[in-house]
Amino acid sequence: MYLGDDDDDECDIQNMESCCYDNMSSSQAEQSFKGHCYKMLILDNEREIQKLLWRGFNANMKFEIDQVFEVLLEDLDSIHADDPDIYDSLSALQVAIKNGSERCVDLLLGNGAEINAEVISMALSKDGHSCRVVKLLAEYSVTKLKTEMITVINCGCVTCLKLFLQQGTFINRESEVNSLPLHAVVELPSLTYPAVAEMLKTFCEYGADVNKENEAGETALFPAAIISDTDCVKLLLKFGSSADKVNRSNQTALHQLFANRHCLMDCIEELILNMTNVNIVDDYGFTPLGHAIGYLYNFWEQEHYTYPMLCRINLVAMFQFLINHGLQADINQISYDIRSFCYRHTRRQYVKEIICLIINSFRNWQCPIEMEYICKESLEKDYQFYADIISLGLSPRSLQHQCRCSLRNHLVVRYASVVSDLQITSQIKNYLLLEDLCDFS
Ligand SMILES: [Zn+2]
Repeated sequence: MYLGDDDDDECDIQNMESCCYDNMSSSQAEQSFKGHCYKMLILDNEREIQKLLWRGFNANMKFEIDQVFEVLLEDLDSIHADDPDIYDSLSALQVAIKNGSERCVDLLLGNGAEINAEVISMALSKDGHSCRVVKLLAEYSVTKLKTEMITVINCGCVTCLKLFLQQGTFINRESEVNSLPLHAVVELPSLTYPAVAEMLKTFCEYGADVNKENEAGETALFPAAIISDTDCVKLLLKFGSSADKVNRSNQTALHQLFANRHCLMDCIEELILNMTNVNIVDDYGFTPLGHAIGYLYNFWEQEHYTYPMLCRINLVAMFQFLINHGLQADINQISYDIRSFCYRHTRRQYVKEIICLIINSFRNWQCPIEMEYICKESLEKDYQFYADIISLGLSPRSLQHQCRCSLRNHLVVRYASVVSDLQITSQIKNYLLLEDLCDFS
C-alpha cells in the first residue's frame, strides 16, 4: 500500500507536529511520533523516513506492538501489523522487512540499523520474502549471515541460497538442529518446496561433500532413496555419492528404499546400476532383495486398506529387474516368506508371478510347503501352480536352469545388459531374462 504522493504526507507530518504534539504530554507525543514512523515504514515511504531520521528517529527504534497498534487504530484503520501476538516488539528494520519495504530497509541499514539473527530469519521467511532485502542484509553484514544455514534452506529460495553460498563457508557444517545441509534439503517436503532438486544441485555445484555422513552413518543419498526422489538420487550419484555406502546397520540406500511404500522403479534402477555389490547383507540378515520381498508382503497384506494400488506390472517388472541384475537373498528366509504367501489365499496373480521369479533365482529351491496346508480356495483356483512349486526340489532342476543361475551369479549387476547383447535367439534370451514368469523348466 502506498499512500499518495509526498505533498499529502508532508501535510500529514506538519499537521501532526504542529497541531497534535503541542497539546500532548511528552509521552503522548512520543507515541504519536512512533506511530507516524511505523506508518511510513509500512508504506515504504523512503523520503519521509529520511526526514524523520533527521528529526531524531533512530534506525534502531523499537516498536512495542500494542502501543503502535493503539496509535494506528486511531489514525489508520486499514493498516494492521500482522500477528502482533507473536512479537512483543519489533525493531524499525524488522517492521520494514516484515512489510517488504525494500527502500526503507536500505535506508535503515545505511543509518546503522542492527542486524541480528531474528532480523535474518524474518527476512528469510518462506512466504513473501524479498530476495532483494536478503541481498541488502548480506551486503551490510557478511559475518552474521554465516550462522543460519538451516534458515536459508527452510526458506526454499534458490536465489537466496546462492547468495549465502557465495560467502563461501559452512557448506558442510552441521546445523543447530544436527542436520547436515544436504540431508536437510533432501528432507524438505517436495510438495511445499518444489525447488528441492534445484537447491540440492546448487549445493553440489558449490562443493558440498555428497559423501558426508550423519550420526547414523548415512549420506544424503539415504533420505533421497527413502522418499524415492529420483531427481535427488540422480543428482547425488552424478556428483559422486557412493551407492555402495552402508550405514551403521550395514544397510545401503537400496535396503532402505524398500521401507517406503511408494518406492519408484526409476529410483531403484538408478541405485542398482551404480552399485558394485547389490547383495550386501545388513545387520538383520537381509539383502536388498530380502527387503524387497518384505515390501511386497506389506503391500499385498495392506493394499486393501491403506496402500494405494500400484499397477501390477510395476511390481512384477520390479522383481524381474532385481533378479536380472543379480540380486539374491537368503534361501531360508525366502522359503519362509513363500510359505507365508501360500498358506493364505491370494487372488492376486502378481503375487504368484513374483513367487515364480524368486524361486527361479535359486539353483535348487526346495519346496517347504505341503499340499494339505494350502488353503482350499487357492487349490481350487490354482491347483497347477501349487502342484508345480511343490514338485520342485524333488528332482534336480534342468541343465539350462543351472546355466542361467551360473551366468547370473557370475555377471551379477551386468547380467541383464550382457544377456541383451548376446547373439542368441530371442527364445533363449527370454528364458535367460525370465520373461515367461511361470516357467519352471
Ligand atoms: Zn530469495
